[in-house]
Amino acid sequence: RRAAIELDFQNLNPEQRRAALCTEGPLLLLAGAGSGKTTVLIHRIANLMKYGRGSDSDEVPAWVQRADLDVLEQYVRAPRPEQKQEQERLCRLDPAVPWSIIAITFTNKAAGELKERLERLLGPQANDIWASTFHSACVRILRRDIERLGFRSGFTIYDSADSERVVKDILKEFGLDDKTFPPKSVLGYISRAKDAMKLGADYLRECEKSGDFRLVKIARIYAEYERRLRDANALDFDDIILHTVRLLKQFDDVRAYYQKKFRYVLIDEYQDTNHLQYQLASALAGGYENICVVGDDDQSIYRFRGATIENILSFEHQYKGARVIRLEQNYRSTKNILEASNAVIRNNQGRKGKELWTEHGAGDKVMCYTAMNEHDEAQYVAAQILTGFSGGRAWKDHAVLYRMNAQSNQLEQAFKRNGIPYRIIGGIRFFDRAEVKDMLAYLCVVNNPDDDLRLGRIINNPPRGIGATTVERAQTIAQQEGRSLWQVVSRPGDYPELQKAAAKLAQFAELIGALRRRCAELPLPDFYEELAARTGYAAMLEQKNTIEDRTRLENVHEVLSSIQNYLENTQEEPSLAGFLDEIALYTDLDSHDAGEDCVVMMTMHSAKGLEFPVVFVVGVEEGIFPGIRAIGEAEEMEEERRLCYVAMTRAKEKLYMTCASQRMLFGRTNANRPSRFLGEIPPEYLERSGRSLYGGHREEEQGGGQTPEREQRAFQRPARVRRTYDRGYSMGSPYGGSSGGGAAERSAPDWKSPAAGAAAPKAALPGFRKGDTVFHRAFGKGLVTGLTPMGGDALIEIAFDSVGTKKLMLKSAAQYMS
Ligand code: ATP
Ligand code: MG
Repeated sequence: RRAAIELDFQNLNPEQRRAALCTEGPLLLLAGAGSGKTTVLIHRIANLMKYGRGSDSDEVPAWVQRADLDVLEQYVRAPRPEQKQEQERLCRLDPAVPWSIIAITFTNKAAGELKERLERLLGPQANDIWASTFHSACVRILRRDIERLGFRSGFTIYDSADSERVVKDILKEFGLDDKTFPPKSVLGYISRAKDAMKLGADYLRECEKSGDFRLVKIARIYAEYERRLRDANALDFDDIILHTVRLLKQFDDVRAYYQKKFRYVLIDEYQDTNHLQYQLASALAGGYENICVVGDDDQSIYRFRGATIENILSFEHQYKGARVIRLEQNYRSTKNILEASNAVIRNNQGRKGKELWTEHGAGDKVMCYTAMNEHDEAQYVAAQILTGFSGGRAWKDHAVLYRMNAQSNQLEQAFKRNGIPYRIIGGIRFFDRAEVKDMLAYLCVVNNPDDDLRLGRIINNPPRGIGATTVERAQTIAQQEGRSLWQVVSRPGDYPELQKAAAKLAQFAELIGALRRRCAELPLPDFYEELAARTGYAAMLEQKNTIEDRTRLENVHEVLSSIQNYLENTQEEPSLAGFLDEIALYTDLDSHDAGEDCVVMMTMHSAKGLEFPVVFVVGVEEGIFPGIRAIGEAEEMEEERRLCYVAMTRAKEKLYMTCASQRMLFGRTNANRPSRFLGEIPPEYLERSGRSLYGGHREEEQGGGQTPEREQRAFQRPARVRRTYDRGYSMGSPYGGSSGGGAAERSAPDWKSPAAGAAAPKAALPGFRKGDTVFHRAFGKGLVTGLTPMGGDALIEIAFDSVGTKKLMLKSAAQYMS
């Protein structure tokens, strides 16, 4: 382990090493994409734990640069005279204990990677470092002390769907229309108020002063929302941070505890912190001021959520004597990809301005493909991925990035047709399924019966004769008496209005009471099984026994895997509350199991901080990316451009950018122009290919860069090809023709050109039969084991020698088979 650390330090360049080795005082590491910021953050922690204070030095001695830490040790033993002074310094080394270090990043995925890399460097003791997201760090702090703010420590976390429900209920109660007050937008106001640290009452006072009628209404909703969450002992995502900051600000002893505990505070992706997160970081680091923040102003992509670049830009003012280190070498991407990204971001006015360089070779040019429509685009991406796979790449080397989740649909279909394994990050998540939410609601209620929202969800689910009227009555009583729903329904005898349902309610209360007792006695997995049985939920699905209900039942059981997973990975004493916390913070990225070999699909926002050998950025069209809202809005346009920079710089070796001349999205067909961002890439880094619906004339010049002649040449295809497409037939597509190939592709089969005249459309299905031996250019040799006609196409099942049995759609697959 020790050897690993030293070896790694030697790989750092002098500036990186300086940032990793100076331990004390505030440090801002400001550098572009792929320059090793996260890498430095990890090495910095390794250094703190190995040498700690005393290894601090602004001027890195020349010998450290040359020789590194093994030499350093050697010379502690036998110093040369000129090294005497250094030796004294080294005698003061004071390694940091793991629990004095807190490292914060944005996504769970990034936090997981951070932990993994630290463990590789430092072994099991890395487990005691607080390496987590803002939210999970705050939940940990709140569990300890939230009672001081009037909550109980078994609080529930509401996700954004829960919050929306609460707002909808309030709108109904207030008699407000959700068209005039869209819940999402109301929540946006609430979130911004919280970011400014305003509680409901403060915000209401302020809005009343402003005299803005509409704002006053929103403020009233906020105040009611706050009250309801408090009654339910629940926190939403913003509250988690808001209340942590309040706790640290209002209670000197709590603040002192954490300021003393955390000798070192490190924050990755600092450009995306909002005001609250900034307050949190300042509060935590307030003791030692050993705060290291890492970021890139060009990658700030969350301003719409209140992230403020000021946090980075004012760091030097906030901390006098802060060290600022810049990194300029990019280690991630080839020269063509890097130069293309630099060229795009250069068009932003509001930036500090920096240029990255790389020692890497030019590599392939950035491939820009203009598809006819969204099907063609998806098929192109699928074809390129199959090419990559047959050329020796793994599926997981490929990532597809889009602006909106809704764009994944077509791609998914193309991948399914072609037998490409993929994983969507951020589609319908397991935890968003109704049956899973029901089971979790039960668990939440067992954990905290005052959770009104969840109680309402399960009180008559499965049906137990407690009608909607009864529930509404109970809710009204609860409101009037300032009690939780549970407090009312568990004592139905106290309320004459509940007379009729009293027996049923008492039975329900009895059930929850019994479950609460069992929860304290049984291990979590056993308890969960008992819960699924005793509530009658599993039995309800078993009885219905339709296909969907069987899937639902599977999902109900699948929750057990998550519980097991939690038990295996938790560092703390396992508990139901702990499990629920983890689930609530579980964002989409976690479902991406890095071990499994799949193409990864996600939004550009989710891709922050990640890297892949091959990246496809799809839908690069005006109106989609940049989005319609950004057009004509200078600031939003700059944010979109930063997002483009983030997306492009995820690629290590190959970058594809695709657009379609016609696209159906949300049920409407639009003809979009290629994005201005494509026009901002100088032609020398680009290789254009594709077919526009209108031959060579459609694409107009955008933002400079392309001459009309060039455009025309690039988009003109042989008439034969266009005719093919005019018939709406999409087989044997000549992807890229002569130019889309990518000369550097490792001896990949040449199926991008219309292989041996295969471009000519066939009216009938290709003639494969059961029992045929076929050769597929990505999957190799296989035996056709099934063929089922489906519409105008057929599902073909092939047992491949190398990859096992796959089901493919014949029309798509046939172009790769002989
Ligand atoms: P982003 O801005 O996208 O978050 P980053 O600045 O955090 O990027 P890293 O992810 O740390 O960059 O590093 C990018 C890639 O460069 C990684 O694959 C990393 O292993 C590699 N790398 C970083 N520093 C060096 C180095 N000194 N020598 C070789 N490779 C390096
Ligand atoms: Mg990073």
